[in-house]
Amino acid sequence: SGWALFFMSSDSAISRCLVSPSGAWSSRGALLRGGEQWRESEVQCEGVVEVGALLREGGIEGGMETVSTEGVRAMMESALTARDRVGVQDFVLLENYTSEAAFILNLSKRFKENLIYTYIGSVLVSVNPYKELEIYSKQHMERYRGVNFYEVSPHIYAVSDNTYRSMRTERKDQCILISGESGAGKTEASKKILQYYAFTCPASEQVQTIKDRLLQSNPVLEAFGNAKTLRNDNSSRFGKYMDIQFDFKGAPVGGHILNYLLEKSRVVHQAHGERNFHIFYQLVDGGEEDLLRRLGLERNVQQYQYLLKGNCPKVSAINDRSEWRVVRKALTVIGFTEDDVEELLNIIASVLHLGNIQYGADESGNAYITTETQVKYLAKLVGVEGAALKEALTHKKIIAKGEELVSPLNLEQAAAARDALSKAVYSRTFTWLVNKINLSLAFKDEVSHTDKSATVIGLLDIYGFEVFQQNSFEQFCINYCNEKLQQLFIELTLKSEQEEYEAEGITWEPVQYFNNKIICDLVEEKFKGIISILDEECLRPGDASDLTFLEKLENTVGGHAHFLTHKLAEGKVRKMVGREEFRLLHYAGEVNYNVNGFLDKNNDLLFRNLKEVMCESENKILTQCFEREELTDKKRPETAATQFKSSLAKLMEILMSKEPSYIRCIKPNEAKQSGRFDEVLVRHQVKYLGLMENLRVRRAGFAYRRRYEAFLQRYKPLCPQTWPNWNGKLADGVSTLVKHLGYKPEEYKLGRSKIFIRFPKTLFATEDALEA
Ligand code: ATP
Ligand code: MG
Repeated sequence: SGWALFFMSSDSAISRCLVSPSGAWSSRGALLRGGEQWRESEVQCEGVVEVGALLREGGIEGGMETVSTEGVRAMMESALTARDRVGVQDFVLLENYTSEAAFILNLSKRFKENLIYTYIGSVLVSVNPYKELEIYSKQHMERYRGVNFYEVSPHIYAVSDNTYRSMRTERKDQCILISGESGAGKTEASKKILQYYAFTCPASEQVQTIKDRLLQSNPVLEAFGNAKTLRNDNSSRFGKYMDIQFDFKGAPVGGHILNYLLEKSRVVHQAHGERNFHIFYQLVDGGEEDLLRRLGLERNVQQYQYLLKGNCPKVSAINDRSEWRVVRKALTVIGFTEDDVEELLNIIASVLHLGNIQYGADESGNAYITTETQVKYLAKLVGVEGAALKEALTHKKIIAKGEELVSPLNLEQAAAARDALSKAVYSRTFTWLVNKINLSLAFKDEVSHTDKSATVIGLLDIYGFEVFQQNSFEQFCINYCNEKLQQLFIELTLKSEQEEYEAEGITWEPVQYFNNKIICDLVEEKFKGIISILDEECLRPGDASDLTFLEKLENTVGGHAHFLTHKLAEGKVRKMVGREEFRLLHYAGEVNYNVNGFLDKNNDLLFRNLKEVMCESENKILTQCFEREELTDKKRPETAATQFKSSLAKLMEILMSKEPSYIRCIKPNEAKQSGRFDEVLVRHQVKYLGLMENLRVRRAGFAYRRRYEAFLQRYKPLCPQTWPNWNGKLADGVSTLVKHLGYKPEEYKLGRSKIFIRFPKTLFATEDALEA
């Protein structure tokens, strides 16, 4: 007649304990019934939460002896204070859910216990631990496989598994949106999800190849697209959306990657303490002797202008040489031939040579090249004629009224042309690389050539909201992107809440929330949005400049509630906006953007003669990157902002067509240190990520909802009519149970398959009754 509930410890050591024959476990331990044959077993505790064990009635002491080691005894004592100590694992259970302080306290409590994951309903909040936790082993993956979301402690595997199962059962495409600021752990999260699928999904030999390629695409993309920044030693400098395609058996059979806005300015310049993209250092440090000789490179990063700007050739946490080997191997796994690799490295080396090209000026100020050897190597590596290249690096050619005009460049212009070429070559090669990976991941349906209907899980790992001392065009684009994602998030969260209420037959109570569409419109609206105005200035011949752009903004969107400039501002605020800045009131807060460079960056021009030379290249990759059509095309190429805008619109369409899950990553401190929780920093992120708003929407109606069977299973011991088994309809069982517990009508609602509980305290009282 007695029963015991064991709560497992929060360390991940193996503990001996008892399990019932059915082996039933919940996140909080095993529910053991008296009279069952208990057996001793080894259970690996999963970084969980509530600690201690609770024992009721007689007759089970004998059994307890087996588990009551000193350690377990100590845990038992702390059982009742567990919730105080480690907080709640779902923010919807916070009593004071509108209090930011309570939110942050809960987060920090859990962080101190190494519990880095917490839910807001189905949204996973993750705090970067900055240390390796023992929670990603194969056993952990096993534990989350096929298990109900709520029965296990919050984990990225729970989200991965839940998403996978929704895809399988509903046959609906899914996506997991990962957001957070630089260094918060987005890329690590996306890798963990991929690893989870690679390990848990069914596989055949053919599938294994795809799994390997999916996993190996990461080191390659990171080598070419990531760099050491002040915030993150391995910062992704591009946005990434990756589809994993699954066949009808649920096996991963393909993948596809979309990349967004590579930060190409990094190729030619890095801020102090930052580096260029990893691949350059990997090649120079790790490349084999004969390879470097062939590429005309020396094994010394200090030799290369493009690697010197940040004065940071080495990073202690990064071993470029061993990474080089990882990347080389990954390229082979992905299916790069030796030729492909050779061509690719030729390009990487040629960018380094380009950076070392220096100019002198003749008496009329025209630039000429002083570094002949560099040109020689460059011409050889790129496969173009040296003379043509030299000419193109010192002159500009434009076509005006059908006539070619060639004019010499001065020192400054020549250096800019050289850098523009480096940026174009590198970023186009990066896009080529992504396409090449896509080819190798392409879903080939060999079973049935008709059925192309793979279902997909998309992973979005994209730059979070950014605010620096100085914000420029790049931050403008990035923050615009976050504004769009926020809009999607609000719309979809509200939509799914509403749908659940409808499905359960419960009346929907409208929620007040801030709709940021107004800010998206300010940026992207046709003809009168900021991007349109920027494009207009870029097209306008004559005296157009960054400052005339600013002026035009004032004249057109000056009255907008979310826009401000120095001139428009009054009082104290005026001092806070510089004369060359405009300020946007984003959903996440205010950001000042300095207009310097907006026009150039948006135009993104490469002189015609440089393009012509590159089109002549014998390098097979470059011929795909620089196509002749570009030269004959009369239409002006789209500006950078407009391109970004349309790629975002496409991304939104993709995401809209899928069932979303969210992972919100938080960085605990700026020092990349474990165990440090900087409250001020976290508070900013809670704000930028819109978490309080998220919680409010989630809590607006009911704090807690659970399917009848799960609810009954857990709490049935509390009511004589439902214990040990309820044989009638589930809804009636739950109704009987909650009436017995004294729930008041305003405290809960019964839907078609779920019970909805309005306040956490109701639930806690029930939990406590279970423990009493
Ligand atoms: P960026 O926007 O700059 O690309 P990010 O959000 O992708 O940043 P990551 O590169 O994923 O950040 O994480 C930064 C670093 O934090 C990692 O290199 C790793 O050292 C650490 N880290 C992140 N997540 C975890 C984790 N779950 N466990 C251990 N360490 C982690
Ligand atoms: Mg990243």
